[in-house]
Amino acid sequence: MTDNMRDKKRLVVLGGGESGVGAAVLAQAKGMDVFLSDAGTIAPRYVAELERRGIPFEQGGHTPELILNADEVVKSPGIPPTAPLVKELVAKGTPVISEIEFGGRYTDAKMVCITGSNGKTTTTMLIYHILREAGVDAGLAGNVGRSLAWQVAEEPHEVYVVELSSFQLENMYEFRANIAVLMNITPDHLDRYDYKMQNYINAKFRILQNQTPRDAFIFWEDDPVIRRQLEQVTTEARLYPFAEHPEEGAAAWVDEDGELVLDTSEQKLRMPRRELALRGLHNLFNSMAAGLSACLMEVKNEDIRRALGDFEGVEHRLEPAGEVDGVRWINDSKATNVNSCWYALESMPAGKQTVLILGGKDKGNDYSEILPLVREKVKGIVAMGKDNAKIVEYFGKEVPELRDTHSLDEAVEAARAMASEGDIVLLSPCCASFDLFTSYEDRGRRFKDAVRALSGK
Ligand code: ADP
Repeated sequence: MTDNMRDKKRLVVLGGGESGVGAAVLAQAKGMDVFLSDAGTIAPRYVAELERRGIPFEQGGHTPELILNADEVVKSPGIPPTAPLVKELVAKGTPVISEIEFGGRYTDAKMVCITGSNGKTTTTMLIYHILREAGVDAGLAGNVGRSLAWQVAEEPHEVYVVELSSFQLENMYEFRANIAVLMNITPDHLDRYDYKMQNYINAKFRILQNQTPRDAFIFWEDDPVIRRQLEQVTTEARLYPFAEHPEEGAAAWVDEDGELVLDTSEQKLRMPRRELALRGLHNLFNSMAAGLSACLMEVKNEDIRRALGDFEGVEHRLEPAGEVDGVRWINDSKATNVNSCWYALESMPAGKQTVLILGGKDKGNDYSEILPLVREKVKGIVAMGKDNAKIVEYFGKEVPELRDTHSLDEAVEAARAMASEGDIVLLSPCCASFDLFTSYEDRGRRFKDAVRALSGK
């Protein structure tokens, strides 16, 4: 290493996906000595970006001596803190941060940040939609859209709407959200938190850290986990809880006439709930959180009402996938945990009219949460996965019919046979997709293709 090189800060990026490459681009723009390392394969488009920019990188393994000499490390949220190299860095005292923490250092833009176990993407997209419709210069970042660091380096915006997973939050320290939204906290990813719920709660609550009295915290008032945790922590942020029914202190609710009310004290908005584009109780909460965020960003009431009314929804979230022989098929492939499936079932009609396709890679699921809804609404379950033993055992005696299938085609065929005219087939798997698919998007798209093929038959 030359003396010249030694003057420069050495930033090592672990993980060569959207966030890692974005961090490397920003580090290079800031004149750092940057190196990117990925233990797996880097997608060709990112390899091309790194090569074009002359950013040194490696893939297919980590070379410790090129990494352990870092002044700071940006870690992709997919790499667990228990990875040996990460443990070694931490033991050495090398700061390990997330890409959002890194990107946040180089911008004064307003940060609207959304986390929670469920509803993050929908709420993030909805806030982004409202802001863009209202003419605000907003960028979409985090789990959705481009990486924050990349945008900060090359296409800066005045506001960022950032979806934050607990994995990203784990490595955030100085970052400050101007508006923090916490949708709910239910068990998810417990495999990554030593099966300790409190560890997961603590990660989610990091969204509140560094907030000042000028900042806002929007959250679901009736979430027992959030409530309990709020009694333990202190925050200076202004609080904007939302609730289904009017409650003391709430900033959003639905009144007896079915009107959605948003009230931040500076701004008050009313609109009939039936005019919201998104249906179902969970989406009411998502609309409330998004509407409150927009009020706090001083978006005009008429713009908020219009955007809440014409939002088109997000792919793979209770997405209509077609109707075949009077049966409606719904793609909720993004329901990768039990709680999101609960909300999907909650929005299904009363009576045993739903055929539920369930299964995949189990993350330590407790199915008792959905059992009452399954008993009430589900006429049959199609288990779809490599290993369905847990589902078959749990639900075998609870539903009139259960089929054990091991591929998408088999599952769709079984669901078609179970459903009659007027029924709904709901793919809301409660599980990750990695046993049979490459991602939940792959699962959802192949499901939609299969439904399309059925209608052609
Ligand atoms: P996330 O990004 O947190 O995974 P999404 O917006 O992608 O959440 O929605 C995933 C699934 O979770 C949806 O298909 C829906 O079934 C369910 N869901 C959406 N919003 C909520 C909410 N506010 N509370 C509970 N479940 C929800």
